[in-house]
Amino acid sequence: MKLDEMYLSLGVSPAVYQYGENVLKALRERFDAVDAVAEYNQAKVLGAMQKNRVSAACFAATTGYGYDDMGRETLEKVYADIFHTEAALVRPQITCGTHALAVALSANLLPGDELLSPVGAPYDTLEEVIGIRPSKCSLKEYGVSYRQVDLLPNGGFDWDGIRAAINDKTKLVTIQRSKGYATRPTFSVRQIGELISFIKSVKPGLNVMVDNCYGEFVDTIEPSDVGADMTVGSLIKNPGGGLAPIGGYIVGTEACVSRCAFRLSAPGLGQEVGANLGILPAFYQGLFLAPTVVAGALKGAIFAANIYEKLGFRVVPNATEPRHDIIQAVELRSPEAMSAFCHGIQAAAPVDSYVLPEPWAMPGYDAEVIMAAGAFVQGSSIELSADGPIREPYAVYFQGGLTWYHAKLGILLSLQKLVEKGLATI
Ligand SMILES: *Cc1c(COP(=O)(O)O)cnc(C)c1O
Repeated sequence: MKLDEMYLSLGVSPAVYQYGENVLKALRERFDAVDAVAEYNQAKVLGAMQKNRVSAACFAATTGYGYDDMGRETLEKVYADIFHTEAALVRPQITCGTHALAVALSANLLPGDELLSPVGAPYDTLEEVIGIRPSKCSLKEYGVSYRQVDLLPNGGFDWDGIRAAINDKTKLVTIQRSKGYATRPTFSVRQIGELISFIKSVKPGLNVMVDNCYGEFVDTIEPSDVGADMTVGSLIKNPGGGLAPIGGYIVGTEACVSRCAFRLSAPGLGQEVGANLGILPAFYQGLFLAPTVVAGALKGAIFAANIYEKLGFRVVPNATEPRHDIIQAVELRSPEAMSAFCHGIQAAAPVDSYVLPEPWAMPGYDAEVIMAAGAFVQGSSIELSADGPIREPYAVYFQGGLTWYHAKLGILLSLQKLVEKGLATI
C-alpha cells in the first residue's frame, strides 16, 4: 500500500491528504529549525545524564520513607544541570502542575507577604491556590495578599504599572510563560529575562517564579537561564516525554527549592524522604525523549497553524511567527466546527479512537467545554489533545503529539471532518 492509501485506510481522503502535502512543502525550513533546537536539547539532556553517571542502579524501586534513594537524588541532579540551577525537586508525590506551583508559592510566601503577577491573570487553577476565587486553604486564607498588573492592550509589559505595584510587602513574583487558555501571546524566554531584570532592579532580593508549563525544550534556554529563582512545571507535559505517568518539578536556587521540599513533605524532613515506588525508569527515559517529543508537537502546531490560516481561520500564534510553547489556538467560529475538529483529533488517537467527544459542563468554567484526548496517560497534554470552551470565538486549543506523524494524522482528520460537514472548503 502506498502512503496516501494508508491515510485513506485511516479515513483521510486523497484531496485532504494532498492539501496537507502542499502545505507541508513550504514548511521545510521551519521544521529544520525545530529539529536544530531538539538536537541541541538532546545534547543538553545527554550531557547531564552522563555527568551524573546515570546507571541501572538509578532505576531501582524504593519504598517506605525512601531514605538514600540514589535514583531520585541523581535524577534531581540531572534536572538541576539541564536547567542550570543549584537545586531541583522532581517527584511523583507532586501530583500535577497546579500542585507543583502551589508548593512553590506556599513554601516561599509567609503571612503578611504579597505575591505579584506582572503578566495579568494566572492560569485558571491558580486562582483558587492564590485565593482570587475564594477557596479553602488558599494563600489568601493564610494572610498572603495578591496584586496583579495586566498586560498592555498590545500584549506588552506595563513597566510603569509594575514598578508602582512593587511595595514593601512584595516577596514573590509569578510569571506564566505560556498563554494557557488566554488570548495573550506566550512570552519568549528572552522577554521573561528582561522582565526579571527589571523587577530585580526595582527591588533586589525579590524572588521570581516562572510557570514553565508547555515551555520546556521549545527553546535552547529556559527561564532558569535568565534569572528565575524557581522554574516549575508538570511531568505529564513536556519534560515527561509522554512516559512519565505523574509528577512535577521545581528547579531553582537552593534557598527556594529546599523550602519547597519542606512544604511538600514536612519541616525537618524535606528532600530526604519520598520513595520512588519504581517509577524512575519512566522519568529518566521520558526526559531523554522529551526534546524529540516536544519537536514533534511543535511541528504539529506549525502544521495546524498553516493549514487553518490558509483556510481563512484566525490562528494564534499565526502561521509564521516564532513559537514559545506547544499550544496552538484555532478560532473555528462555530460550535459545529469545534465538534468536528475534536472528532477528528479523537479519531486519530491510539486509545479511545472510537469515542465521540461531546461538550459538557466542567467545574470552574462559565461555558460547556469539549475535549478530545485519546491518551495513554489520563489528562496528559503532551499527547495529542484538543479542547476549548463552547463560546465566542469558538477556539480550540490544540497541543501535543508524541510523534510528529501522529500529530499530522490528527490534523488531517480534523480537516477531513470539517470538509465532510461543509464547514471548510479546500
Ligand atoms: C497545565 C498548566 C498548569 C496546571 O497544570 P495541571 O497539571 O493541569 O495542574 C498551570 N499553568 C499552565 C500555564 C499550564 O499550562
